[in-house]
This record gives sequence, structure tokens and C-alpha cells, in this order.
Amino acid sequence: MDCCGHEGSASGDARFDIKRVADGVHVAVAAPAYKVNSNTAIIESDDGVLIVDTHSKPSAARVIVERLRDITPKPVRYVVNTHFHWDHWHGNEVYPAAYPHAEIVTNQLTREAMLRKGLKRIQDHVRQVPGEIAKLEADLAAARSAAERERLEANLRLARSYLAEVKALQPALPTIAFERTLKLYRRDREIQLLHLGRAHTEGDVFVYLPKEKVVITGDAVIGWTPFMGDGYPEDWATTLDRLAELDFTHIIMGHGDVAGRDWLRTFRAYVYDMVEAVRREVAAGATLEEVKQRVPATLAPTYEKAFSAYGDYRPWRTGVLGNIERTYAVVS
Ligand SMILES: [Zn+2]
Repeated sequence: MDCCGHEGSASGDARFDIKRVADGVHVAVAAPAYKVNSNTAIIESDDGVLIVDTHSKPSAARVIVERLRDITPKPVRYVVNTHFHWDHWHGNEVYPAAYPHAEIVTNQLTREAMLRKGLKRIQDHVRQVPGEIAKLEADLAAARSAAERERLEANLRLARSYLAEVKALQPALPTIAFERTLKLYRRDREIQLLHLGRAHTEGDVFVYLPKEKVVITGDAVIGWTPFMGDGYPEDWATTLDRLAELDFTHIIMGHGDVAGRDWLRTFRAYVYDMVEAVRREVAAGATLEEVKQRVPATLAPTYEKAFSAYGDYRPWRTGVLGNIERTYAVVS
């Protein structure tokens, strides 16, 4: 399973829309592509650049390195990983290769999770992608239209080159790890790295720029229904309450476009209401199947529209059912 559950019908290789969020602060918003849909934040300071997250493969991170040259001549000094999921750190190796002084930074729990769970994921991909390639080959053989054949051929090329990349991956683990807070005082900017508790994973890192009023959330807040497979649904809303205490106006998320505080309120309320609804059902003795029947219907009037901004790419219902399964397992 990938970080956010189900892969949608995305195709094509890594493409990013680079947007300015504040002076010297940019985000590369990923267009949904083959195995690439996560964002990179770019923070310039007097002595270099800090990058947040590195995508799912080195070639995607290389696209960012290329685009960086249009933004600033300064070298990358720090690369921050927000959590251990593959789609946020498999591109790490590109930065120390391009910038020999670059340090990779994360929370201690995330570094341990990379070692314990993340490295294994690389081997899982080496084993699983040949099956994906075989399926694409079969689909291609059965394709009826030229357009369909063209789409499948493009995906087949990407899958084959992804397999070669993941086999050759040189996992670049963080070189600096912190417990709860690490503050970088650059001459022109303060950058805070914060662990506020468990949410999407055990070691989620937020990057906060107090002067610019920008926060970078990784996948603790995203633009569609969260993936909770490795998450802590019961802790999530409380962690987001700590986040909400910070003073910011712009949220750069792990996936999806830049958002404001209103989206944090909606997202937090969804997590809270979903967990409470599952708890109530479990307390009343409902089976998992019954909970999966009833809770989406309870939540839909309030949340379905807000969480359907990415339509078929990340269908709301599939996401909610995954969240319910995870929550049911932890509360019962
Ligand atoms: Zn992700």
C-alpha cells in the first residue's frame, strides 16, 4: 500500500507547479503522476536552502534540483523529512549528491521508523513492481483503443524505469535527528522543526516559519481524506489542536494545494467526528461491517463535498472506509 492508500488513475512522470507562498518560501505542488503526488517545500535563507520532503524516487527529486536553479543560486543546506513514508524520502540521496554539505534532518522516531519499516518498503517495491509491470503488459495486450494503448505504454515505460530506480536506490538516512524541537536561527529567518505528538505516524514533523506565518505539515494535514494505515486516529485531533495554537495563515501540505486555516478546521473536525462515530458504534456493540455501513452515511452530509476536491483521483468513500477500518482496530 502506498502512503495514501489507493493509487488513482494518474499517469505521466513527475511534474510540479512551483508557487511562491511568502518571500523566499516556495512550494512545488505535485501534479498527480505515476507514483509521484507529494509536495516539496523550498525555504531560502541567507546561507542556503532548506527543502522539506523528497518524493518517492530520485528522478522526481532531480526535477526539483533542476527547477531550484531558476529560483536561487544558493546551495541546499538542509533536507527535512516529515515522516517515514517512502513517498516523502526516497529521493533523499539526490541532495547530498548535488550539494555535498547538505544535512538530512528529522525527528528521532521517524529516523528509527525509516530503519525499522522504511528500508523494508524498498525491498517490497523491488518485489511488487514486476507484478505491476506484468499487469500493465496484460492490459496493453487487451487494450481496445489507440488512446488506451498509448496511456498504458507510457505507464509501462514509467513502471520499468521506476523498477530500475528502486533497485538502485541508495537510501540516504537522516544525518541529524531531534526529539521534540529543533530551531534554526538563520540571519534572515527562523525555522522551527516541531514534533507535536502522534498523528499520521509516530514521528510527524511540522516545519514552522513564525515570521512568515507558514506551516508545513507533511501528511498530518493533506488535501484529501487522510491515510491512517500507520496512523494514530485517537491522537490525531489533539496533535492538530497543538498545531492550531501556532500563528500561521498558510499551510503547505504533504499532498494537495496550499491551504488556509479553514481547511485545518475542516480536516481536524473530520478526524475527530470519524473517530467519535466509530467509538460510539463500537460501544454499542457494532461489527466492523455495520460500522462501515453506517459511519460514512453519518459523515457524508458534512464532509463528502469538502474531501472530494480531488474527485476520482482520491475518492472520498474509499478513504473513509480505510480510516474506519484503522480506527475500529485501535478502539475495539
Ligand atoms: Zn504522503
